[in-house]
Amino acid sequence: MERKKHHLKFGSAFDYAPAPETTPVALKKQYELFIHGEFVAPASGSYFNSINPANGKRLARIAKADHADVDRAVKSARQAFGNVWGPMDAAERGKYLFRIARIIQEKSRELAILESMDGGKPIKESRDVDLPLVAAHFFYYAGWADKLKYAFPGKAPEPLGVAGQVIPWNFPLLMAAWKIAPALACGNTVVIKPAETTSITAMHLAEIFQEAGLPPGVVNIVPGAGDTGAALVEHEGVDKIAFTGSTAVGKRIARSVAGTSKRLTLELGGKAANIVFDDCAIDQAVEGVINGIYFNQGHVCCAGSRLLIQESIHDDFVARLTRRIETLRVGDPLDKNTDIGAINSKAQLKRIQELVKTGEEEGAELHSSSCPLPDEGFWHRPSFFTGVTSSHRVAREEIFGPVLSIMTFRTPAEAVTLANDTCYGLSAGIWTDKGSKIFSIADQLKAGVIWANTFNKFDPTSPFGGYKESGFGREGGLQGLAAYVK
Ligand code: NAD
Ligand code: MN
Repeated sequence: MERKKHHLKFGSAFDYAPAPETTPVALKKQYELFIHGEFVAPASGSYFNSINPANGKRLARIAKADHADVDRAVKSARQAFGNVWGPMDAAERGKYLFRIARIIQEKSRELAILESMDGGKPIKESRDVDLPLVAAHFFYYAGWADKLKYAFPGKAPEPLGVAGQVIPWNFPLLMAAWKIAPALACGNTVVIKPAETTSITAMHLAEIFQEAGLPPGVVNIVPGAGDTGAALVEHEGVDKIAFTGSTAVGKRIARSVAGTSKRLTLELGGKAANIVFDDCAIDQAVEGVINGIYFNQGHVCCAGSRLLIQESIHDDFVARLTRRIETLRVGDPLDKNTDIGAINSKAQLKRIQELVKTGEEEGAELHSSSCPLPDEGFWHRPSFFTGVTSSHRVAREEIFGPVLSIMTFRTPAEAVTLANDTCYGLSAGIWTDKGSKIFSIADQLKAGVIWANTFNKFDPTSPFGGYKESGFGREGGLQGLAAYVK
């Protein structure tokens, strides 16, 4: 045991040699807007930097779209909808989507590296989780393009028109795929705004659209910050808004869309309960809990950020968790051995640190891995709080970082009450040996996605979305089509 621990521990004499991903990438110094099938300079001439969060250094300059650019993009999307994409035979639309999916697969190594460089996530996640899911999403919705009448039997589904989409920084390409693929499959055209810290892979996706010969205007990409997003959401030429991000911004968007004819779907925050019963396979549950909270540095809206442990196994479980987080490797996102990469931005790191501080001030006990952190860039040790109660801010608010809040329960009924005691309802997890218990607990949980004896598993055929303040509407699966047709 002792030898194994030393072997795995980061920075020890027995450390693994660095194993960086080596596929060459065509990172540009500067990226332009993608409007009407071409890369164009922004009307204002202004650019912003995209940073590599693993060293704090600039990766590229990104064009910033303002009102005039958003207007140009929406008009292009409208024209493409009316003249080309809307009237096109559905099977032809499907062919474009299949083509896009195949090119994504061909370029997936390169895209994974760019995703890890710009966003900070470990290469083993971007390479083995994000990119396969991105391609799978395009393949899945490509298949639906000419079968919409079977998705909605007895109805004649029609596209909505121009979709305005705003996405976050935690899964940049995957969120783009979740938004773009169903919209196009249903015959809509798109204007999409990536998050300001992670625009680079969206611009490479634009190159893929060009390579696939997607007609100009079918997808337009307008990078920028919140004001660019607001310009898109408020634009009169947009028929549908799809947003993923914070609950605060989601509420603002809902207010601005209210009273217009725009359709809206929101995918917001979460504070998922991972419920561990004393009859579970305990080591499997420890792994699931680790994956549930430390996957993608905890930058996951459906992260299992509240751990509810049955009291009788609490001490044993916490001891195993303590041992396990010591073996997690924090560091270079491009190193294949890295488990936990960089926090996406300085601002996000500050938010995490502030909430962690309130946890300590409110009396919860912080346990952190002892791993060393790199000198440059934005990092947070994998951590968890014990002695948390439902009223603590770390139990109520989304930390969106690698920090878990642990509470205990005695009976299944108490577990359900604790789990549902939140304004969110995106996901939950159940760990038990008893199938009947899984079904009975799942029935009582107010959450959109419930995993049993696993966590953070995604599939394009399966709908995803929240209850309560986690938003409304579903993405993925057959249900994901409904958001893009009338
Ligand atoms: P955010 O909601 O501010 O940003 C998400 C997207 O919305 C970005 O593209 C941003 O530019 C855009 N945006 C910001 N203001 C806007 C506005 N007024 N109108 C239209 N678009 C606007 O999220 P953030 O500040 O990057 O992160 C803050 C918190 O949000 C995080 O700590 C986390 O709790 C949560 N978050 C949730 C998700 C999720 O997947 N549900 C993703 C990212 C962040
Ligand atoms: Mn970046």
